[in-house]
Amino acid sequence: MPPVEETVRSIGQEFIIDGEFIGGSEIEAGHINVTYVARYLQMDGSERRYILQCINGYVFKDPVAVVRNVERVTQHIAAKLEGSGEQYLKMYPARRGGHFYEDAKGRVWRCYNFIEGCRSYDVVESTEQAYEAASAFGRFQDLVSDLDVASLVETIPSFHHTPMRFARLMDRAADDPIERLAGVVEEVQFLKDRKELGAELVSMMKGGLLPVRVTHNDTKLNNVMMDERSGQAVCVIDLDTVMPGLAAYDFGDLVRTATSAAAEDEQDLSKVEMRMPMFEALARGYIKACPSLTAAEIHSLVTGCKVITLEVAIRFLTDYLEGDLYFKTEREGQNLDRVRVQITLLKQMEEREAEMEEIVRRFADSESCELTSN
Ligand code: ATP
Ligand code: MG
Ligand code: MG
Repeated sequence: MPPVEETVRSIGQEFIIDGEFIGGSEIEAGHINVTYVARYLQMDGSERRYILQCINGYVFKDPVAVVRNVERVTQHIAAKLEGSGEQYLKMYPARRGGHFYEDAKGRVWRCYNFIEGCRSYDVVESTEQAYEAASAFGRFQDLVSDLDVASLVETIPSFHHTPMRFARLMDRAADDPIERLAGVVEEVQFLKDRKELGAELVSMMKGGLLPVRVTHNDTKLNNVMMDERSGQAVCVIDLDTVMPGLAAYDFGDLVRTATSAAAEDEQDLSKVEMRMPMFEALARGYIKACPSLTAAEIHSLVTGCKVITLEVAIRFLTDYLEGDLYFKTEREGQNLDRVRVQITLLKQMEEREAEMEEIVRRFADSESCELTSN
């Protein structure tokens, strides 16, 4: 048996799943964990697939807490969707108890059902697809809106504490550890000028104006499984970063990643474009699918788009000044290119803010969320 199959087979044995192992392979998509698909023959001759995933222990310092968070969330959703005929993510129990297996090297594994008949996309292809993705994240948000946030652990502390990210950037700009500051004075100034923007959501949260919810925190298009035939969203996956958070960050990150067609490290900044029809589809899908959003939360969505774009720019620039330690780089200056893409996008969001607000207001006011353009 090839080594990959042997790995999949032996890890699979640690979980309580049905059938006889008939094959396994690695899924290359995903940048964080190691993901395998395992095939098992069932008694009736059919085949069932499972996902076996090894959690990245460098990114997640406490992988068991990650599993517990996912357990809470998947069980909460399962209780609502059981018997509905819909596909949703569930984790299988491990033979030694709990929902994870720790191997001899201390790596933590979990086993999911395979969401069948679906695929995910890396780049948004149409407004319909943007709408579907946003609906999936909105629905997810809504399904967990009555789950007690205190039952989840903050697995990456201060993940979206933008002022803390800002303070670290200022420290690096002050000590300039590898003397890169001279080349990025303009970028540092741009971000510095937006210090107040960076604090907006955190202060509203502290002031009790925005509710802390269970959020997904990795709201990228490729974390939505879409029905291969109908193109409709089936469910969201990749729940590793579910934590207490704000809806505005989830929505904002979706907008940040799905409205511009340019790559995150694009060097030709003329390709960076805030595509309003995409934004409109995202806002419509998200708001419609999440009726539990409060008026204040809906009002914070556009701010969320700006703050998260600012935050990501801050993180890339900090890493650039620190010597590219956190984000993987393949060429000199790649992190700086990423900063410039985010800054360009943020400038466009600022220019089109009134339009964005108008769209959000329109969908918030209308029950039906009908599109009036596009
Ligand atoms: P990311 O870089 O987005 O954080 P990751 O390393 O955390 O990715 P996942 O997104 O969880 O990994 O999974 C990687 C890929 O495996 C997904 O993009 C999807 O194609 C596939 N996949 C994961 N879970 C399932 C599932 N339950 N059913 C079907 N396919 C799945
Ligand atoms: Mg993923
Ligand atoms: Mg992930």
